[in-house]
Amino acid sequence: MMQAVINPTPKDYKSEVKPTWCPGCGDFGVLNATLRGLAGMKLSPDQTVVISGIGCSSRFPHFMKTFGFHSVHGRALPVAQGLKMARPDLTVVAVGGDGDFFSIGAGHLIHAALRNIDITVVVMDNEIYGLTKGQTSPTSPHGHVTKSTPYGLLASQFNPIATALSLNVSFVARGYSAKPKDLAALIEKGIQHKGFAFIHALSPCPTFYHTFDAWDAAVTSIPGDHNTQDRNSALALALETEKQFTGLFYQEERPTMDQAAHAQMLQAKSFDINQYMQRYA
Ligand code: SF4
Ligand code: MG
Repeated sequence: MMQAVINPTPKDYKSEVKPTWCPGCGDFGVLNATLRGLAGMKLSPDQTVVISGIGCSSRFPHFMKTFGFHSVHGRALPVAQGLKMARPDLTVVAVGGDGDFFSIGAGHLIHAALRNIDITVVVMDNEIYGLTKGQTSPTSPHGHVTKSTPYGLLASQFNPIATALSLNVSFVARGYSAKPKDLAALIEKGIQHKGFAFIHALSPCPTFYHTFDAWDAAVTSIPGDHNTQDRNSALALALETEKQFTGLFYQEERPTMDQAAHAQMLQAKSFDINQYMQRYA
């Protein structure tokens, strides 16, 4: 049985399993940021659950000493939402890659956004399918040449932040795995946020696509005067093509479905069938 840890440090969340990622993979930085973010919240590992789908980044739960569930392709969000509805006392974090969340799991992203259940999602985006050796993913740029698109990708590039904003996700942020301290601060804020928190983490796959150098040049902090309650200006930043803005784009506090469902359950428990029948007789 897992023991509670008072005042945990990042290493209290780290399992004995050594990450199997390629040397230089961006996911190391995201793991480091997640360990720091959870420690920053002083959350006991036995009160935290990390859930993933399938992909290189979805091996994540094995490397953490929290509870975890390495589920099936694209299904991290249904598992995470179900768990939070059943156990609102737990901190639930769903992790995975661009293929997992924006291709096979894309439908779940839409409905999770609409429900606003209090979970945190960290998407490690390398703009490629790494596990299956470098095919295009929804976030690969138009024209990208891979083994699956030898003459160039014909589809448009999926924009994760603009999509999350258009779905009215209540917390939208982007971090970069080369800046784990900043990313840790965003993960901590996302967990503190009451509602669905979406964190887009740029995480290079140097084996099959991006190197850190390519993103170092594009990553820029969101201007300090950006109003995080203004969805239109957040969208303008998200649609910027030359720069990859990082930081908090948008945050809005609104009722979560887990809270609302709990209130409905209480209402249902006090439901009086006789009163109901009399009223509608
Ligand atoms: Fe990371 Fe790419 Fe290697 Fe997968 S293939 S572990 S994403 S570097
Ligand atoms: Mg990927």
